Amino acid sequence: MSQNFDKNRDRDSLNTPWVGRFAPSPSGPLHLGSLVAALASFFIAKQRGGQWLLRIEDLDPPRVVEGADQSILQSLEDFGLEWDGPVVYQSHNFARYQTRLMELMEKSIVYGCDCSRKQVEERTGGSYDGYCKERGLLSVSGDKSIAYRVDFSDGKHQFNDQVQGLCEFSSPSDCHDFIIKRKDGLYAYQLAVVCDDIEQGVNHVVRGYDILDSTPRQNFLYQCFAQAEPIYFHIPLVKNDMGIKFSKSAGSQAIESNKASELLVTALGHLGQKTEAAMLTAKPRELIAHFVKHWQTENLPSNLNR
Ligand SMILES: [Zn+2]
Repeated sequence: MSQNFDKNRDRDSLNTPWVGRFAPSPSGPLHLGSLVAALASFFIAKQRGGQWLLRIEDLDPPRVVEGADQSILQSLEDFGLEWDGPVVYQSHNFARYQTRLMELMEKSIVYGCDCSRKQVEERTGGSYDGYCKERGLLSVSGDKSIAYRVDFSDGKHQFNDQVQGLCEFSSPSDCHDFIIKRKDGLYAYQLAVVCDDIEQGVNHVVRGYDILDSTPRQNFLYQCFAQAEPIYFHIPLVKNDMGIKFSKSAGSQAIESNKASELLVTALGHLGQKTEAAMLTAKPRELIAHFVKHWQTENLPSNLNR
């Protein structure tokens, strides 16, 4: 299951046409943290003449806020960010996830689980603990969760993050079994993201450092599907004055289009790019065009140094 770190593969991949993506969940409007992720993924793709795809991650209906997708698209336009191709909605892709899930079931790499969320929470405080691993509950009837069996028996899992450097995961405490389809029938984030990125030809993934721990899980899925893993860039999170990460759930403020240039300069500064006072009065599209030319991926600060 583990994969040896292959520097040559990474180097080759860096020379192929790039397909990147921005994949917000429509649980609220864009905030400064998501703008930072959008910009980093946009410039990294565009600087190599690549494509920047947009995917709305509306997997979890109770968390979807009506109209949030349209508000996100409008904000991206107001901030001068144009995506390539049609907007993809995960809620339209359930058949694809099911097909991939059947592939995993045939490989016996998954198992059924009948734990309720409450039971798991009482045992572990949150994440799944592999309780049903040996209970033989796998069935196609769809009334149980389906979990992926993580196996570190042949060593550790490494990947070379382009911002954070070599990342290594080796024990069940680093990465344990995880649910890929929920008891209520919803597909889990880990499975959906991998299926969509494969389908859309995404070969590099730029996202917040808080997703770093998901990466080995997603890489395991890539290996199961016999697909090359993408190149990863895990970028530093934007925190507010209290040191708390900006996110929709933390009630962070929506970015305002009438302050687009100011916010772009703030976000680009956070990403280690060279900004100047004159940029504050430039149009968003002019700023974006400037940074397509002058973006410096090597200036991205890593979390570990901050
Ligand atoms: Zn269970």
